[in-house]
Amino acid sequence: MHSKYVYVIGGGLAGTEAAFYLYKKGINVTLYEMRPHKMTTAHSTPYLAELVCSNSFKSEELTNAHGMLKREMNILGSFLLDIAGKTRIPGGKALVVDRNRFSSMVTNVLGKKIKIERREIVDIPKNDFIIISTGPLTSRGLSEKLKEIIGIEHLFYFDAVSPIVSFDSLDMDKAFFGSRYGYGKDYLNCPMKKEEYEKLIEAILSGGKYLPHIAEDLFFEGCLPIEEMARRGKDTLRFSLMKPVGLSIPRKFTDVYAVVQLRKENREGTMWNIVGFQTRLKYSEQKRVFRMIPCLKNAEFLRFGKIHRNTYLNSPKVLDIFGKLRQNIFIAGTLLGVEGYMESAVTGIIAGINAFRSLQGLKNLLPPRGTMIRGLYDYISTPKENFQPINANFGLIELYKKGRNVSKKEYRMQLVERSTKKLEVWRNKYEI
Ligand SMILES: Cc1cc2nc3c(=O)[nH]c(=O)nc-3n(C[C@H](O)[C@H](O)[C@H](O)COP(=O)(O)OP(=O)(O)OC[C@H]3O[C@@H](n4cnc5c(N)ncnc54)[C@H](O)[C@@H]3O)c2cc1C
Repeated sequence: MHSKYVYVIGGGLAGTEAAFYLYKKGINVTLYEMRPHKMTTAHSTPYLAELVCSNSFKSEELTNAHGMLKREMNILGSFLLDIAGKTRIPGGKALVVDRNRFSSMVTNVLGKKIKIERREIVDIPKNDFIIISTGPLTSRGLSEKLKEIIGIEHLFYFDAVSPIVSFDSLDMDKAFFGSRYGYGKDYLNCPMKKEEYEKLIEAILSGGKYLPHIAEDLFFEGCLPIEEMARRGKDTLRFSLMKPVGLSIPRKFTDVYAVVQLRKENREGTMWNIVGFQTRLKYSEQKRVFRMIPCLKNAEFLRFGKIHRNTYLNSPKVLDIFGKLRQNIFIAGTLLGVEGYMESAVTGIIAGINAFRSLQGLKNLLPPRGTMIRGLYDYISTPKENFQPINANFGLIELYKKGRNVSKKEYRMQLVERSTKKLEVWRNKYEI
């Protein structure tokens, strides 16, 4: 028998949104946060919703995927965006906050409304409704418990993310479909000549890189960053992931010295992953350097490559489409396989909505197709060979044909307007 309580484990971006939503709905909610008794390697304060690195929530422009996500979150009554509005500082087109004022205000406001217990949770109660939102640095004790439940192979500790580009932006005259050794046509291959390859290697080696955030951010041998492979020898990549062998290369491509492979990232084929290009190159450098690959000359980057310590579940395998591990256990935040402050926060709202509905005996819901939120959830529940976390981007949105005389900006605005209307109807219909 389930109780009429919800327990939220982890008071970060996702957990605070979930807890606030449940409070608004009149549910008894207890939020467990292990800090300050037990700190993570990235947090430095006792505040809830601490921003561990940047103090920016990214763009507010509606034609930017992050701006679109924020509009959807506002429609769903985001608690954190409300506090962000009260603590913002100038940041151009981005929503930038005074980090201490932001997190302390979240802590104070929430502390007056719900019960907050400061302790590490290492066990998961069986019969209550639980939202687990313990983030990328989930404590070891709880990670062990999660491993017991889902199996050791389905809990990941490391993000080695390769960039994703939009299909529309690829130069298809410089690429061909085909898999190595004749196994289907799942890959898009971008051939390179010797000179192009050598320039690319040079640029990868000399390009500006991010330093690891924390000591645990170092790479491991099983998944080396592209720059580390390049550092080990100028032919290392050409003899490994860029080897030009086993492919039926169309005759128009001559003197092929290396091949970069791209793999489909979503069902619709709008997003393509540059295979094996996990990297710590700065985002601006990724654009500059990877656009040296002929078929990526005008590539639009939907997600940049990165490498850092991150705990997350193999969600497509172990969760249902609503992000549930069991009928009473909801997962939210980066643990679910999203990345970014706002992406984490919005999954807290959705977990809150569905925990509330479950308590009422109502069926679980997701926002309608066409919204950025739905795009994130569809991505997370689609089975993949190598599941990697995702951020908000237009490749996730259900598209329709762009009018011939419509600019990209106008088209995106149409997508935003469509999603806004759909989401408002959905919110009103289900009394979200
Ligand atoms: C080093 C680092 C830097 C990052 N920088 C950025 C950035 O600049 N911009 C960006 O958009 N994203 C960034 N991210 C990614 C991500 O957006 C943030 O980590 C975000 O805070 C994740 O939200 P969350 O709610 O899932 O987890 P968190 O915000 O980390 O919240 C999880 C909470 O759970 C607590 N907790 C953990 N285990 C337990 C337990 N067993 N019991 C009780 N409490 C527990 C933690 O103390 C923490 O407060 C970064 C991630 C890392 C690791």
